[in-house]
Amino acid sequence: MKTKIQNPGNKEIRLTPVRQGILKILEKEGSPLTVPEIQTLLKEKGLFPNKTTLYRQMEKLLENNIVESISLKNTVVHYEKKSSHHHHFICSTCKNITCIEDENFECAARSLEKSLEKNGFLVKNHNFSLEGKCQKCLAF
Ligand SMILES: [Zn+2]
Ligand SMILES: [Zn+2]
Repeated sequence: MKTKIQNPGNKEIRLTPVRQGILKILEKEGSPLTVPEIQTLLKEKGLFPNKTTLYRQMEKLLENNIVESISLKNTVVHYEKKSSHHHHFICSTCKNITCIEDENFECAARSLEKSLEKNGFLVKNHNFSLEGKCQKCLAF
């Protein structure tokens, strides 16, 4: 059985069992994961790619706009499924990353971008992340 998925670039990428596994894991977890974390979860599904293979798979999924990589200060690269625009909270203790969507924040950012553009700047995107302690780490 061959499964293909359509991506924004309109090219098709063949979904091998490992790739399918990666995408299912990223969907289910709903928060960005590192390659070692993905590897552990793949094992539970009976898939055993080595780290080099896994990094190569992630590159392929990145190239095809299916996943996004997140590089924040003081952490290794995390991956998540490509979705709508949002930001991240990183726990400085456990290093877990949580996705954050906030309409009010986006409105404020948009108005700042507009005022910059009135002053002759061209704003292409914005990056923003929060850092602190997550609920779990605070509970200890
Ligand atoms: Zn995210
Ligand atoms: Zn934003």
